[in-house]
Amino acid sequence: MYRIRFHGRGGQGMKTAGRILGTAFFLAGFEVQDAPRYGAERRGAPIFAYVRASRNPIFERGIISRPDLIIVADDHLPAMPGSGVLAGAGEQTVFLIYSNEEASLWQERLNLQGSVFTLPPLAENELRFRGAACAGGAAALLAELDVELLAEAVREEIDPLGSELVADNLEVALAAYAALAVNRGTVHEGGPVSAIDYASPDWLKLPCEETLLSAPAIHAPATSEMSQTGLWRSERPLIDESRCKRCWWICSTFCPDGAIQVDEERRPHIDYGHCKGCMVCLNQCPTHAITAVPEEEAAAQGEKP
Ligand code: SF4
Ligand code: SF4
Repeated sequence: MYRIRFHGRGGQGMKTAGRILGTAFFLAGFEVQDAPRYGAERRGAPIFAYVRASRNPIFERGIISRPDLIIVADDHLPAMPGSGVLAGAGEQTVFLIYSNEEASLWQERLNLQGSVFTLPPLAENELRFRGAACAGGAAALLAELDVELLAEAVREEIDPLGSELVADNLEVALAAYAALAVNRGTVHEGGPVSAIDYASPDWLKLPCEETLLSAPAIHAPATSEMSQTGLWRSERPLIDESRCKRCWWICSTFCPDGAIQVDEERRPHIDYGHCKGCMVCLNQCPTHAITAVPEEEAAAQGEKP
């Protein structure tokens, strides 16, 4: 059975990637499971989707704990422990990542034992089709999935969104497939996983200090300062000072990431390192002082990220 996990951020198309790959397997005659997994978080948060494919009925359920292939759509994720990118990676696990850095660097950095590949770079206007690129790259590494099956799966999955999006997704998926086709067949099916093989973890004795006060350790939002959730954002909220009435308690309270700070003069300032671009502030601002500007447009205007 093939066990495949796609990791990305909410909004990067990992659910779609899983569906495309799952459909390609199905068209090739496999039994398939594909499902995304995410919580109540907004887009920008780490999520994953997984695909199981087998020539026999699949009785295995739940999250894939021993993947044969891991695809990572955002190269900031491996550094985030909560993303679980490396969970269960073993000697046979192939790793495919969207990154400007060399595959050999990732191999060394993450101490990966299996083969490591990178997806070809996407143009700025293609980034929203990253899911299709991940599906295309993954399909290229699987001996059973040829380019016709991939194309048919993309058409089937994207068709409800219109012919223009089918064409865009197809172009990106096929380019990723072509770039990685030389490695076709690198991913191999994993053997059966049985509960008998489960090794319980060693007993750990944790030191315990006497506490005088029982209280939560986290007292404020946005304490994960090192986690740059603003790295993924397709649109940037910009505050027009001339329209801002300094009713700061509205936008700063509604921002789910605590990314709006208020200065001594009651002016709101957006922390773009942690603003995920969810546009809740835009919808709440009573004077419409906040507008959404595409990232590339804001950068071209000289706005600092
Ligand atoms: S809610 Fe709008 S008008 Fe009020 S402080 Fe925030 S940006 Fe300014
Ligand atoms: S600043 Fe606005 S767009 Fe950014 S995370 Fe907060 S509510 Fe969302």
